[in-house]
Amino acid sequence: MPHRTWASRVERARKLAASDLPSRNLLAFYAALLDVQRAIHEQLARQPAPLAGALHQDLPVLRPLMPPLLQVVATAGPTSLARAARELSGNGDSSLEPLLVDYWQTLSTGDAPGRAFFAKACLQPYARWLVDSKTPIVRDRLRDRNRCPACGGAPQAGIMQRLGSEGATRSLLCALCLSTWHFQRVVCASCGERDERKLGYYNSPSYPHVRVEVCDTCRHYIKSVDLSVLGIADPLVDELAAASLDLWAREHDYVKIELNLVGL
Ligand SMILES: [Zn+2]
Ligand SMILES: [Zn+2]
Repeated sequence: MPHRTWASRVERARKLAASDLPSRNLLAFYAALLDVQRAIHEQLARQPAPLAGALHQDLPVLRPLMPPLLQVVATAGPTSLARAARELSGNGDSSLEPLLVDYWQTLSTGDAPGRAFFAKACLQPYARWLVDSKTPIVRDRLRDRNRCPACGGAPQAGIMQRLGSEGATRSLLCALCLSTWHFQRVVCASCGERDERKLGYYNSPSYPHVRVEVCDTCRHYIKSVDLSVLGIADPLVDELAAASLDLWAREHDYVKIELNLVGL
């Protein structure tokens, strides 16, 4: 896949936010958030001492980098997230840190998407930097099936591309460290179903490069971004931009494998 950086993601989100997509307000917020995540990643890269790869040991380094992120959410976020950000800022580090530690260990979004939002927003640049700096990630349950080989995260999106004589290939994009890994094309990314009669696809003319991939065995779905249709797409950003496809999936009783950062 063409190399994606925080800066290129910010640029893509800003470009889509300036379009007439129904998700443009969400994209404007996401661009601001990606920019603060970019800054956190950059500051982690400048740390003089190497990180441990275990969150509880690295928290003192992460702690001072979090207030600007809460600030952006408080000023640019949707109402409920903005309120939550102000509450977390008011309580100091004490309420944010248990949330991060909990998410790091379980990777569960549970039934509180607001909490998962803050955990993921803070931890994505941290996990990304651990991968970039080749620091082994220390977490329980790192080796679950159909999970990111680097950090154990769930797949956020699929990526399709055509690579010369190999034909079309499929990868999955990690929701936590944003790594990608190869995955078979016609297999459910949740339960591993291979029976083509159980696997279905849906897309809409509004997003010709994005499709919903559903599985009737486990009733899960994931969205895939086809870079051979739109090479300038950014799988992380374009997945979020195609929010109306999530509505379609939900109306048809499919459950997303991993909600994206804004809870869709
Ligand atoms: Zn990962
Ligand atoms: Zn399945």
